[in-house]
Amino acid sequence: MSSANAAASPTAAKVRKFPCEGCGADIRWDPSASALKCPYCGTVKVITPETQEGVRERPVEAGLRAPRDLGWGAERKVIACKRCGAHTTLDPHVAASACVFCGTAAVVEAPPNQNIVRPEGLLPFKVNRDGAVASFQNWVSGLWFRPSNLKSTSRVTNMRGAYIPFWTFDSATSSHWTAEAGYHYYETEWVTENGQRVSRQVQHTRWEYAAGWLDMFFDDVPVPASHGIPPALAKEIEPFPTDGLVVYDPRYLSGFLAEENAIDLPQALEAAKDRMRGEVRSACVREIPGDTYRNLDVDTSFSALAYKNALLPIWVCAYEYGNKPYRFLVNGVTGKASGTAPYSWLKITLLVMFIIVLVVIFASLKK
Ligand SMILES: [Zn+2]
Ligand SMILES: [Zn+2]
Repeated sequence: MSSANAAASPTAAKVRKFPCEGCGADIRWDPSASALKCPYCGTVKVITPETQEGVRERPVEAGLRAPRDLGWGAERKVIACKRCGAHTTLDPHVAASACVFCGTAAVVEAPPNQNIVRPEGLLPFKVNRDGAVASFQNWVSGLWFRPSNLKSTSRVTNMRGAYIPFWTFDSATSSHWTAEAGYHYYETEWVTENGQRVSRQVQHTRWEYAAGWLDMFFDDVPVPASHGIPPALAKEIEPFPTDGLVVYDPRYLSGFLAEENAIDLPQALEAAKDRMRGEVRSACVREIPGDTYRNLDVDTSFSALAYKNALLPIWVCAYEYGNKPYRFLVNGVTGKASGTAPYSWLKITLLVMFIIVLVVIFASLKK
């Protein structure tokens, strides 16, 4: 594998957490082999999970009381971005001079957050760096009206594999709703128009009190927890096949970046509840009898709340052009790609002028 951190230079004080059984070098996750692979001697080691239980949800009360594990379970260096706010963790010996998510050089080394809740699960990389780079080159070549130096500016050496965090929540909900249900009826009214008596059907609404109970179950309501990749951007390379989640093991991170959770469990829980309340409310609206409604009030109680937190694999190429940040993303499992690139207004203006010249020439020929 051409490593995700090929540009990184190991220092003398190199920390070896996962040495190769063959030669003692650092062993890294290889997406093509779906295993750990030594970049020097080629020794392959399959990660076998410590438990056979798979990735399981935890009750929220238990998580709020005491998270099971804190920290990454391996030594990680943290880089804080002053622009997008992402806290990116790297293998300890890897040098980083820019934020992987927004491309800015305004990054500072930060102390690792020891209270970071360890992910329960992770979706391992399946697309390797070569695949992601090829996808980027394809994409850049296919773009029209872009600055000529875009290809050289957006150097693919910036392509990095990063795990971004997200939460999911399960919950049973029971809601009591009250509303005024409106029933339309029509009355004939007589009015005088142009001196003539004419009849008109006028709509009136009769309001009646209505109430009911509604039970709904939610499974895997996602709450993104990344500063580096805003939810709208991550959506463009969805879906992530989360049925492929494996139990977290820090060895999957070796050779890759990982972003610290931007929101903690209580915040994520509130976000999930808001989303569920919204869906419950829409469902209650469908329950109200009559033709229309007003003063809907929904009181929802949540039970059997459970959560898991996991990491999603993304290849990121962040670059600046004219001081503006642009990004290219590849889904680390499916290879789906999306990105933004600047336009060259010079090229667009030249094309428009060329068309105008053609039209003028054509018009003068017809005379
Ligand atoms: Zn080796
Ligand atoms: Zn950033």
